[in-house]
Amino acid sequence: MRRTGRNTGAARAVSGTGGKSREPSRRPTGSKPEPAAAPEAVLTAGLYLVATPIGNLGDVTLRALAVLRGVDRILCEDSRVTARLLARYDIAAPLELYHDHNAERVRPAILAALRRGESVALVSDAGTPLVSDPGYKLVRAAIAEDLPVTALPGPSAALTALILSGLPPDVFLFGGFLPPRRGARRRALAGWSSLAATLVFFEGAPRLAESLEDMAELLGNRPAAVARELTKLHEEIRRGRLTDLATHYRDTGPPRGEVVIVVGPPEPAAPDHIAVDDRLRAVLAESGVRDATARVAAETGLPRSQLYRRALAIRRRLE
Ligand code: SAM
Repeated sequence: MRRTGRNTGAARAVSGTGGKSREPSRRPTGSKPEPAAAPEAVLTAGLYLVATPIGNLGDVTLRALAVLRGVDRILCEDSRVTARLLARYDIAAPLELYHDHNAERVRPAILAALRRGESVALVSDAGTPLVSDPGYKLVRAAIAEDLPVTALPGPSAALTALILSGLPPDVFLFGGFLPPRRGARRRALAGWSSLAATLVFFEGAPRLAESLEDMAELLGNRPAAVARELTKLHEEIRRGRLTDLATHYRDTGPPRGEVVIVVGPPEPAAPDHIAVDDRLRAVLAESGVRDATARVAAETGLPRSQLYRRALAIRRRLE
């Protein structure tokens, strides 16, 4: 395995032909992406953030395998979990632990290795590192020192649940894990209640029913989905209103495995026709049908055509 020195721009895997690494920043903008890295990849120095499967070990990219095969060291949360993935692909690589309990202590040594021009991969137990997983402070420190950092995208439970939920995916907020304490959780939900976005949360199975009940109360009884055991044998997506899902999991008890909760955006309130007619009547007392329609449309956001018909009917009754 060969590597270039530091300060070569973003760290990246390049094809191994000829034994020369290419300077990443020289590739002209808009040119075709490079082909997948060959198994014996030549790696530039730097920190590689490598996404790994969230259950199904087949969900790993060719580039991820090439990088894991080629780096000087792999940082992982739990060596037993990562060893299973590496064994599946016949990768023998040194594993070092980087998790919430040792990160502060081992980070200086990792940064020193990057400064020396080593290639280092960071993986989590499942999915995309940094997404509710360790790595943010390491990335921030590497960026601060202008050390090369790159990411190898791949599975994440949040996006997988979102696209399977059947709920609007165009605007969404990923809320990570909600606070475990009820008061803090309810305050967090209240803060997001008026956001016009689909909400995505990680949650532990034992707290699922309680969280769904809090969501129904603080967000309203919106359509939602619970995505369980994604990509695994017992994958299940249960869709329904928040209160129905809460009742289901209250009755059945905590489900087995890992879950993601997806909640649809606030639904537009049905117009209060009596209030709208009252407002039209008041405005019609001092203006014509067209002006009244325009004013009440601006105030309520209701369609002009609908308001015009109602204004005409009211005017006829008034005459
Ligand atoms: N970094 C990971 C990712 O990008 O998916 C998430 C790690 S976070 C510590 C673990 C949480 O992700 C679980 O509690 C669960 O909410 C969700 N999760 C991970 N794998 C899952 C799966 N296969 N099915 C459903 N949820 C999953």
